[in-house]
Amino acid sequence: MKETRHLEATRAAHPLESAGLKCRFCAAPLVHSFADLGMTPLCQKHVKPSQLNDAETFYPLHAFVCTSCWLVQLGEYATPAEIFAQEYAYFSSYSDTWLLHAKQYAEDMTTRLRLGGDSLVVEIASNDGYLLQYFVALGVPVLGVEPAANVAEAARERGVRSVVQFFGTATARELRENYGGADLLLGNNVLAHVPDLNDFVEGMRVMLKPGGVITMEFPHLMQLVEHNQFDTIYHEHFSYFSFTTVEKVFAAHGLTLFDVEELPTHGGSLRIYGRHCDTAPAVHARVADLKAREEQWGVRSVAMYESFDARVKETKRAILSFLIDARSRGKRVVGYGAPGKGNTLLNYCGIRTDFLDYTVDRSPHKQNTYTPGTHIPIHAPEKIRETRPDYVFILPWNLKDEIMQQMAYVREWGGRFVVPIPEVRVYE
Ligand SMILES: [Zn+2]
Repeated sequence: MKETRHLEATRAAHPLESAGLKCRFCAAPLVHSFADLGMTPLCQKHVKPSQLNDAETFYPLHAFVCTSCWLVQLGEYATPAEIFAQEYAYFSSYSDTWLLHAKQYAEDMTTRLRLGGDSLVVEIASNDGYLLQYFVALGVPVLGVEPAANVAEAARERGVRSVVQFFGTATARELRENYGGADLLLGNNVLAHVPDLNDFVEGMRVMLKPGGVITMEFPHLMQLVEHNQFDTIYHEHFSYFSFTTVEKVFAAHGLTLFDVEELPTHGGSLRIYGRHCDTAPAVHARVADLKAREEQWGVRSVAMYESFDARVKETKRAILSFLIDARSRGKRVVGYGAPGKGNTLLNYCGIRTDFLDYTVDRSPHKQNTYTPGTHIPIHAPEKIRETRPDYVFILPWNLKDEIMQQMAYVREWGGRFVVPIPEVRVYE
């Protein structure tokens, strides 16, 4: 009896277990660390000039892997209300690459699913209507579901019917009642942001017509690990999915994933295709092929997940070595972009104006503010032409080709581009 008590005391002393974190899908305890990125502020909390002397709230940024369902996830440190309370500064329409991707998708799906004037396309987290506008142009009725009022308003202005709501089972029942079920139900880069995963996926089952199709896009965990994309871990991203795990989550809610595509977006994403299980869809060979590759990669190996942390630390040292060397040689280094991933990278590596004089962003909502926690000023891109820096350090590395093309004039004065991920690389 005494011995048992002693054992329990020892177990409870394990720092991760004593935190009492549970898997957001299967509720198993989370005790295996995937990446510990220290303390960071929320990435959308850009600092206004008048707030520069105020305190900021920092939260742990620590990802775990559940060894029961293999979902990689953050512990719930900041509540979803804290994270999504402020008006989103993010409007999708600013990236040319992403717009092209959206247009292509709308055309492909309209043909593939034979969508027309009697169909309904529903997008979850429809943002400013940047994607649904292409379905509207093809004459297909749409409904956008977007939680941020200011962003949904921008969608309505471009003719995209939108409701201001968080998506979940209750919302799905209401929308189904008012607008009918979806022939195509889609969500791009939303699944990772969902705090209550089970309620969300159950809502998708409710919203989907009997013969309808779901497509969702999200960054692929295997690519995150293989290409060292630790900076895609931030508080707004609660979950990080392998196909193996996402298939399990959808199956638990009566949905079969019958096809999958691997896309280059966001450093390597998956587009999954789902239908109701009871329609017994034929499953494409790509599904078995991807699952076999994930198995080989180590999707069910604790050691594979636990080895990631060491690589993250190595990457931090390499980034800092480059910056220390450049500054020691008297070179001027500035940033390009102020994305969520930049917030993780800058805070985790401790990069402030000691290394980057400033950064620039095309979004007017971010200009004339400062990066959260690290207080690097954010200007309009024209600042780079005025100040002629030696290096432009690209924070949204997933858009590096587009940015290097737009900013090609940097080479006129011998400036060069630096991309930090998967490893520090200078482009001559
Ligand atoms: Zn789990």
